[in-house]
Amino acid sequence: MTKKSKYFWVDIEKNQRLLGYKNKSSFYASKAWRELRDLKLTNNPFCEACEKQGKLLVVAIDVDHIEPIEKAPHLALDIDNLQSLCKACHYDKTGEENRNRNSNKQNKGSIINKKWLK
Ligand SMILES: [Zn+2]
Repeated sequence: MTKKSKYFWVDIEKNQRLLGYKNKSSFYASKAWRELRDLKLTNNPFCEACEKQGKLLVVAIDVDHIEPIEKAPHLALDIDNLQSLCKACHYDKTGEENRNRNSNKQNKGSIINKKWLK
């Protein structure tokens, strides 16, 4: 993991430069991203992963990059590279579930992750 994460960070730096944003958070804070994200949620208001699994329609609250921006920075603002996800599916994909499990329990009522609001 240590070896891998070193390369991961190297890649992030390289791709952030390609994206033209100082870092990942400044990308997610950009007007271009927020507008595209809103458009995506308007077009696909339900979780696409749940839909594929034949589950009931779940309201999507996150927009995810199918090809992560670290891997494919040129697709960062390509709507075809986006999928609407519910919080559970997004956590599954990004592996954030473990990291956020505790805070998530405490904030059960809040469905919007703060990082998407900026
Ligand atoms: Zn889902």
